[in-house]
Amino acid sequence: MEPKVIKYSRQREAIWDYIKNRKDHPTADTVYTYVKKVYPNISLATVYRNLMLLNDMGKLRTVFVGDGMVHFDPDTSDHDHFLCTKCGKVTDIYFDGKEETVRKPLDFEGKIERSFTIYKGICEQCLKKSPEI
Ligand SMILES: [Zn+2]
Ligand SMILES: [Zn+2]
Repeated sequence: MEPKVIKYSRQREAIWDYIKNRKDHPTADTVYTYVKKVYPNISLATVYRNLMLLNDMGKLRTVFVGDGMVHFDPDTSDHDHFLCTKCGKVTDIYFDGKEETVRKPLDFEGKIERSFTIYKGICEQCLKKSPEI
Protein backbone atom coordinates (compact mmCIF):
# COMPACT_ATOMS: atom_id res chain seq x y z
CA MET A 1 0.00 0.00 0.00
CA GLU A 2 1.23 3.45 -0.86
CA PRO A 3 1.92 5.57 2.18
CA LYS A 4 -0.69 8.25 2.55
CA VAL A 5 0.81 11.49 1.39
CA ILE A 6 -0.46 14.33 3.45
CA LYS A 7 -0.51 17.46 1.43
CA TYR A 8 0.98 20.50 3.08
CA SER A 9 -1.75 22.88 4.01
CA ARG A 10 -1.25 26.44 5.07
CA GLN A 11 -4.47 26.32 7.06
CA ARG A 12 -3.29 23.26 8.96
CA GLU A 13 0.01 25.04 9.61
CA ALA A 14 -1.95 27.97 11.10
CA ILE A 15 -3.97 25.56 13.25
CA TRP A 16 -0.81 23.86 14.45
CA ASP A 17 0.91 27.18 15.18
CA TYR A 18 -2.04 28.18 17.30
CA ILE A 19 -2.31 24.97 19.28
CA LYS A 20 1.25 23.71 19.59
CA ASN A 21 2.14 25.52 22.83
CA ARG A 22 -1.28 25.58 24.45
CA LYS A 23 -1.94 23.97 27.79
CA ASP A 24 -5.67 24.67 27.94
CA HIS A 25 -6.90 21.81 25.74
CA PRO A 26 -8.97 23.89 23.31
CA THR A 27 -11.93 22.45 21.45
CA ALA A 28 -12.34 22.74 17.67
CA ASP A 29 -14.65 25.71 18.31
CA THR A 30 -11.96 27.61 20.18
CA VAL A 31 -9.39 26.90 17.48
CA TYR A 32 -11.91 27.90 14.82
CA THR A 33 -12.60 31.26 16.49
CA TYR A 34 -8.91 32.05 16.28
CA VAL A 35 -8.05 30.63 12.83
CA LYS A 36 -11.08 32.37 11.30
CA LYS A 37 -9.39 35.70 12.03
CA VAL A 38 -6.52 34.68 9.76
CA TYR A 39 -8.57 32.64 7.25
CA PRO A 40 -12.07 34.16 7.18
CA ASN A 41 -13.33 31.52 4.73
CA ILE A 42 -12.33 28.51 6.77
CA SER A 43 -15.17 26.35 8.11
CA LEU A 44 -15.47 24.67 11.48
CA ALA A 45 -15.56 21.32 9.66
CA THR A 46 -12.20 22.06 8.03
CA VAL A 47 -10.68 23.02 11.38
CA TYR A 48 -12.02 19.84 12.95
CA ARG A 49 -10.80 17.68 10.05
CA ASN A 50 -7.31 19.19 10.28
CA LEU A 51 -7.19 18.72 14.05
CA MET A 52 -8.13 15.06 13.59
CA LEU A 53 -5.47 14.77 10.89
CA LEU A 54 -2.85 16.20 13.28
CA ASN A 55 -4.10 13.61 15.77
CA ASP A 56 -3.62 10.83 13.18
CA MET A 57 -0.14 12.18 12.49
CA GLY A 58 0.66 11.86 16.20
CA LYS A 59 1.31 15.57 16.62
CA LEU A 60 -1.46 16.01 19.12
CA ARG A 61 -3.95 13.88 20.94
CA THR A 62 -7.65 14.04 21.61
CA VAL A 63 -8.86 14.32 25.18
CA PHE A 64 -12.33 13.25 26.27
CA VAL A 65 -13.33 14.48 29.69
CA GLY A 66 -17.01 13.69 29.53
CA ASP A 67 -18.25 17.21 28.82
CA GLY A 68 -19.49 16.18 25.38
CA MET A 69 -16.66 17.95 23.56
CA VAL A 70 -13.42 16.80 21.98
CA HIS A 71 -10.46 18.65 23.40
CA PHE A 72 -7.10 18.77 21.66
CA ASP A 73 -3.78 18.51 23.43
CA PRO A 74 -0.38 19.09 21.78
CA ASP A 75 1.25 17.31 24.75
CA THR A 76 1.24 13.65 23.72
CA SER A 77 3.18 12.47 26.78
CA ASP A 78 1.55 10.23 29.38
CA HIS A 79 -0.59 12.37 31.62
CA ASP A 80 -4.07 12.60 33.03
CA HIS A 81 -6.62 15.39 33.01
CA PHE A 82 -8.67 17.32 35.48
CA LEU A 83 -12.02 18.82 34.57
CA CYS A 84 -13.32 21.69 36.68
CA THR A 85 -17.04 21.14 36.99
CA LYS A 86 -17.53 24.83 37.72
CA CYS A 87 -15.70 26.63 34.90
CA GLY A 88 -15.20 23.69 32.52
CA LYS A 89 -11.46 24.19 32.35
CA VAL A 90 -9.35 21.13 31.50
CA THR A 91 -5.90 21.03 33.09
CA ASP A 92 -3.05 18.55 33.03
CA ILE A 93 -2.20 16.26 35.89
CA TYR A 94 1.24 14.69 36.00
CA PHE A 95 2.42 12.15 38.52
CA ASP A 96 5.98 11.45 39.63
CA GLY A 97 7.41 8.28 38.20
CA LYS A 98 5.45 5.51 36.66
CA GLU A 99 2.35 4.33 38.41
CA GLU A 100 2.07 0.83 37.02
CA THR A 101 -0.46 -0.56 39.41
CA VAL A 102 -3.52 -1.18 37.32
CA ARG A 103 -6.29 -2.70 39.39
CA LYS A 104 -7.31 -6.05 38.01
CA PRO A 105 -10.72 -5.69 36.47
CA LEU A 106 -13.35 -8.37 36.95
CA ASP A 107 -14.30 -10.51 33.96
CA PHE A 108 -11.62 -9.16 31.67
CA GLU A 109 -8.99 -11.41 30.12
CA GLY A 110 -7.30 -8.94 27.76
CA LYS A 111 -4.06 -7.05 28.38
CA ILE A 112 -4.37 -3.47 29.51
CA GLU A 113 -1.56 -1.31 28.14
CA ARG A 114 -2.62 2.18 29.09
CA SER A 115 -5.24 3.87 31.12
CA PHE A 116 -6.27 7.49 31.13
CA THR A 117 -7.90 8.92 34.16
CA ILE A 118 -10.19 11.92 34.23
CA TYR A 119 -10.39 13.72 37.54
CA LYS A 120 -13.34 15.98 38.22
CA GLY A 121 -13.69 18.64 40.83
CA ILE A 122 -13.19 22.35 41.46
CA CYS A 123 -10.07 24.03 40.13
CA GLU A 124 -7.84 26.27 42.24
CA GLN A 125 -9.15 29.53 40.75
CA CYS A 126 -12.80 28.57 41.31
CA LEU A 127 -12.00 27.47 44.87
CA LYS A 128 -10.44 30.87 45.58
CA LYS A 129 -13.48 32.64 44.19
CA SER A 130 -15.96 30.68 46.28
CA PRO A 131 -14.10 28.97 49.13
CA GLU A 132 -17.35 27.82 50.72
CA ILE A 133 -17.85 25.07 48.11
ZN1 LIG B 1 -12.74 26.20 37.65
ZN1 LIG C 1 -3.16 17.45 28.60
